[in-house]
Amino acid sequence: MSSGLFSLDGKVALVTGASRGIGKETALAFARAGADVILGDITDDLEDIVGQARSLGHRVKGVHVDVTDNAQVYDAVATTQRQYGRIDILVNNAGTHLVERFAEGSPEAWDRCLHVNLLGHMVFCHAVIGGMIERQYGKIVNVASDAGRVGSLGQAVYGAAKGGIIAFTRNLAVELARYRINVNCVSPGLINTDMWNSTRRDKPKLADAYENTVLWKRLGEPGEVATAILFLVSDEAEYITGQTLSVNGGVFIAS
Ligand code: NAP
Repeated sequence: MSSGLFSLDGKVALVTGASRGIGKETALAFARAGADVILGDITDDLEDIVGQARSLGHRVKGVHVDVTDNAQVYDAVATTQRQYGRIDILVNNAGTHLVERFAEGSPEAWDRCLHVNLLGHMVFCHAVIGGMIERQYGKIVNVASDAGRVGSLGQAVYGAAKGGIIAFTRNLAVELARYRINVNCVSPGLINTDMWNSTRRDKPKLADAYENTVLWKRLGEPGEVATAILFLVSDEAEYITGQTLSVNGGVFIAS
């Protein structure tokens, strides 16, 4: 039984990119809220996080799934549905950052960025919605980025992928509302994970410039994004769909 504000008792949730960062905190928040959780990731190194989530008392499983491999995605969903009976909640969180001036980039890197951050989310949605439509119940949260909402230096392609997922979410929400399936986005700002910390290490000046735009004057913590996701997949958020919720400490853009 969950003890927090939002209960996911009896729900089955699949979270992608769950080995670290925001995905890991989301999986743990879901387990705390009472859900059975399937942790999908491109790495097989999920033992530690699976152990942590299991210690919270629910059914937990780690699944190797590269979101750019369509066959792996459909297989992960079919296997989960067989073993757990259904998937009530999908969080498309797997992502990869790309920070470079557009003129200096290469189409190969764009392919990967668009595939992981945009197409991978779409294929996962396609794989799960059949079961959700049958049961007339489902909660989908796509993890976008404020790079998809504002312009920022070095993020033309990453921003396009994330802006794409925001538009996809809005449109999918229209199609799926009649089946009582909520589709929303969470849009993180600058969050204290390996992803941001590697940008800070590789591009410290740019990182300073980004961080100076944050009104709260600190990075967000992955658990703060997880809380927003937990809210959006809870039944308390039943009347919210097609929306994008930024978790960014308030941002202003100086010209
Ligand atoms: P992170 O610490 O780098 O974690 C990303 C996760 O995605 C990792 O577990 C990674 O697996 C997994 N992943 C990457 N490619 C994958 C693939 N092809 N298939 C399956 N899993 C894959 O990043 P994070 O900061 O937690 O980011 C989570 C989400 O938030 C991403 O969508 C990111 O774009 C978004 N976001 C983050 C920030 C931020 O400031 N941190 C800001 C805005 C948006 P491995 O561990 O094996 O690499």
